Amino acid sequence: MGYPDTYYSRTLGERRERAALTGAEDADAVIVGGGLAGLTTALELARAGRRVIVLEAERVGFGASGRNGGIVSPAFSGGDEAIRARVGDADARALHRLSIEGVERLRATITDLKIEGAMVGQGLLSLRRFDRADDMKRHVEAFARDFGYELRYLDRSELGAHLQSQRYFHALSDPASFHIHPLRTLRGIAAEIERLGGRICEQSPATGQDTTGAAKVITTAQGRVTARDAVFATGGYTGSLVPRLRRAILPIATYLMMSEEAPDRLAGAIRTGAAMYDDRRAGDYYRLVDGGRRLLWGGRITTRAASPAGIVRELRREMVGAYPQLADLKVELAWSGTMGYARHLMPQVGQMGPGVWHVTAFGGHGLNTTAIAGKVLAEAILGESDRIAMFRPFGLDWAGGLAGLMAAQLTYWKLQMQDRWRERG
Ligand SMILES: Cc1cc2nc3c(=O)[nH]c(=O)nc-3n(C[C@H](O)[C@H](O)[C@H](O)COP(=O)(O)OP(=O)(O)OC[C@H]3O[C@@H](n4cnc5c(N)ncnc54)[C@H](O)[C@@H]3O)c2cc1C
Repeated sequence: MGYPDTYYSRTLGERRERAALTGAEDADAVIVGGGLAGLTTALELARAGRRVIVLEAERVGFGASGRNGGIVSPAFSGGDEAIRARVGDADARALHRLSIEGVERLRATITDLKIEGAMVGQGLLSLRRFDRADDMKRHVEAFARDFGYELRYLDRSELGAHLQSQRYFHALSDPASFHIHPLRTLRGIAAEIERLGGRICEQSPATGQDTTGAAKVITTAQGRVTARDAVFATGGYTGSLVPRLRRAILPIATYLMMSEEAPDRLAGAIRTGAAMYDDRRAGDYYRLVDGGRRLLWGGRITTRAASPAGIVRELRREMVGAYPQLADLKVELAWSGTMGYARHLMPQVGQMGPGVWHVTAFGGHGLNTTAIAGKVLAEAILGESDRIAMFRPFGLDWAGGLAGLMAAQLTYWKLQMQDRWRERG
């Protein structure tokens, strides 16, 4: 099976298929899942000289990592307030610093490996749809004070130089965030793992595991890997391979659409190479790609697979609401992807037993966080640091099964309602 039809798979370039696992192999570490979490872990282990084998059920970047919005910015899905409530001020700040490190690591990986066409644009505008700026200004001060992180407040006239929209009143500009072509990024990282001697097997779903002994054994339809360490990095695509992980993950779908080529019309709406997201609790995000010729627009979540066509109507309504001048802009393609969420909304990064590790549940904020979590997990496996302890408060809690999914959908709808009230208020 190939990649799903997305803007990224259409513009991928290199698309060599890797062989499936056959026969019995040995490694220092076997990593199940070829998304950014699994590949970052594999890359860091391979850099330290470990022999790694990655097993990917489909293709590298088949999951969320190869089809997302591509926006790389600090923070976690959990949100600052909830994190602070669980771990206190000091640890919340340390976690936020880690999330900034994730942004910088991914930038360094792309730059150092010279991954062609991976870096698409620089900067992020966080947009507000109602007229109140006091908390935004406080946020700028707090980020400068606590993290030495530069954000800039833009009023309506300054914002007008970037966006032709009456919908937004203010923005925060974050010049250090950036946006990428995620699938090219993943393929570039995979190539580097192989250059370092690692092995990546595509079309190799792990179907069995025995991790009780010193040697961990992972089996596929045609092969078997025996390794000292086993890492599970299966994200929102986590199946029944490790029941404990499955119970801890809610799979949540989200959506993106790609416009037709319309550089002139788009230039009449968006005049920035930065990415945008609106700061509603259930907000949208978008950016120009292809040198300003196309618009990618994303948003919405559902807990049951919905047809992207139905969601496109909603996303288009949002787009035209913000930019009436794009009313005729055609949508050429839409797709969905599945994110993995824990009940506490934070990544689950830790150890299930000696030599058995997990790195999952990055939710909708997975680009910076997988990049740092893979590094931190590799440090733990290599015995180099105990930074993994920062994730200990966010364990493999039961996510609630079907009731958990229903609760997630209701929470999302509630947030949408609250957003509407805030805009009207
Ligand atoms: C539409 C969309 C837009 C998003 N936008 C953004 C954004 O702009 N910025 C941001 O930071 N985050 C964004 N995210 C979130 C981000 O993409 C994810 O959090 C992140 O990619 C998760 O990475 P992962 O490696 O954990 O999971 P995945 O990338 O999903 O990888 C898991 C892999 O495991 C494989 N797998 C599963 N089971 C097995 C098995 N038994 N054997 C072998 N392999 C298996 C799957 O095939 C899959 O390739 C978005 C997500 C989506 C879906």
